[in-house]
Amino acid sequence: MSRPIQVLIDSAAIAHNYRRIKALAPNAKVYAVAKANGYGHGLERVAAAVPDADGFALVEFNWAVALRETGVTQPILLLEGVFSADEMAGASRHALTVAVHEERALVWLETLTLPRPVDIYVKLNTGMNRLGFAAEAAGAVVARLKACPNVGSITLMTHFATADDPERGIAKPLARFDTAAAGLGLPMTLANSAAIFDFPEVHRDWVRPGIALYGATPFAHRSAASLGLVAAMSLQSEIIGVQTLQAGDAVGYAAAFTASGPMRIGVIACGYADGYPRHAPTGTPVLVGGVRTRLLGRVSMDMLAVDLSDLPQAQIGTPVELWGKNLPIDEVANAAGTIGYELMCAVALRVPVRTL
Ligand SMILES: *Cc1c(COP(=O)(O)O)cnc(C)c1O
Repeated sequence: MSRPIQVLIDSAAIAHNYRRIKALAPNAKVYAVAKANGYGHGLERVAAAVPDADGFALVEFNWAVALRETGVTQPILLLEGVFSADEMAGASRHALTVAVHEERALVWLETLTLPRPVDIYVKLNTGMNRLGFAAEAAGAVVARLKACPNVGSITLMTHFATADDPERGIAKPLARFDTAAAGLGLPMTLANSAAIFDFPEVHRDWVRPGIALYGATPFAHRSAASLGLVAAMSLQSEIIGVQTLQAGDAVGYAAAFTASGPMRIGVIACGYADGYPRHAPTGTPVLVGGVRTRLLGRVSMDMLAVDLSDLPQAQIGTPVELWGKNLPIDEVANAAGTIGYELMCAVALRVPVRTL
């Protein structure tokens, strides 16, 4: 047997979460957002889990082409657009839908000779100030696109910075968007996962769930379970070493944890080179043999240590869940000062994947 770490991907959980989103937004079409290799779950695995998704959304041109070449016929939307005239031509060839957010891409559409018209999402900046034309320019941008034979359908798009924050919400960007969109008569897409749950008024024509599809929460203070979501990813390993400490004995690099009395600890085959967050402190939850215990000391490249004081039966070979079905990724992320999104995306290439 090889090093015992593995990541389990539960296709049925992804399908369940997709249906949950469909039930919340029954009148909208759903882009399964699968950038970053399907938030670490594997692009092809995600596509296979929801073969009936209304569309897929990515940011990586090459992976979008690869997805098209697996036979996916639904719209594939490039959320960050294309990065060169060549890619605009490629988008045309492979029937990829392109978010256009700046002048340069407009000029490509106006000047290239393309094999077929490209469906366009006009990305409007409503206050996040990342990508997009100022919302107020929507009319002028749409007029240019409508005059352009390289352009197929046109959809308006924006992205919210604080849909997950009940204090700030979406009122201001939404007003800006609706003012800009008024009278244009175009389909639109606004909602990420957080907005799908909390703001049904922005479901509109298409919604764009990412994190919810994978069964983690977009909210700081609401669990995935409370949203009716099921974790699709479980990171599992085993205890590969056991040590007995006396008062004053320390664990791992920098001797960052010191025992105050006799205790047993377990060493687990999982470290930051597997994608476990190095900044997770002592106290971060870990499930050992189905029982919740705590991380001790520094996470190293290939190993981490846990407290076995209350787990006398735990030994070499005892199974461990770092996050997953029984230990929400959001709790681990929270303990490590990050979000579930980052942990999912960071699972390393060396971790074998098993699809359920
Ligand atoms: C990543 C992304 C999403 C999905 O966001 P979640 O919070 O994961 O639901 C939606 N829209 C755009 C433009 C994105 O980049």
